[in-house]
Amino acid sequence: EYKPEMTRAMLIGSFVDSYFEGTLDAFIKEHPEVFTRKQELRSEFRKANEIIRKVRSDDLFMRFMSGEKQRIMTFDLFGVPWKMKMDSYLPGICITDLKVVANFRTLPYWRYDIQGAVYQKGVEIVTGEQLPFYLAAATKERTPDFDIFQIPQPTLDFAMNEVGAEVQRYADVKAGMIEPEACGCCDYCKSRKEARIRNYNELLEE
Ligand SMILES: [Zn+2]
Repeated sequence: EYKPEMTRAMLIGSFVDSYFEGTLDAFIKEHPEVFTRKQELRSEFRKANEIIRKVRSDDLFMRFMSGEKQRIMTFDLFGVPWKMKMDSYLPGICITDLKVVANFRTLPYWRYDIQGAVYQKGVEIVTGEQLPFYLAAATKERTPDFDIFQIPQPTLDFAMNEVGAEVQRYADVKAGMIEPEACGCCDYCKSRKEARIRNYNELLEE
């Protein structure tokens, strides 16, 4: 029942995604907030346009993004049903996911190794082919950076083990059999919180 609001940061990513999907016109119609009241593109979407211009003129980047767009596959893995949607699927060659991020250093925090592991396994289950998984990444920095990152196979294998070890708990929570544990710091948790007394010094830790 919880519908998180799309943040500006998410909108920039979706703007670039929809360009590659060939649905930018529809995206702009659905999100009139990309324009100012003077009907000019807001600065963050001018940044998105700049990112698109940059990567579009790069042969390597565009080769990785040249596959079938938004291809959906469904499959069973660890006894649960999965559904995935690939940004660029080149059968027999590779799977690529497009990422627009603040900077490259933040990439690993999003655990794209888990996404890559599941996408690779999904394609393998559906087609019988094990394909390498890449991120076509671009940054929102003043001068956008862009590169293709391959997630190495041992990293994908390690992430897949983690999924196998944790997935039952997610399935049980989803089925309402066990209660989820609140993290206490995301928007959803904050929206339902009550104040408590805390030690000031805990803010200096971590
Ligand atoms: Zn939370």
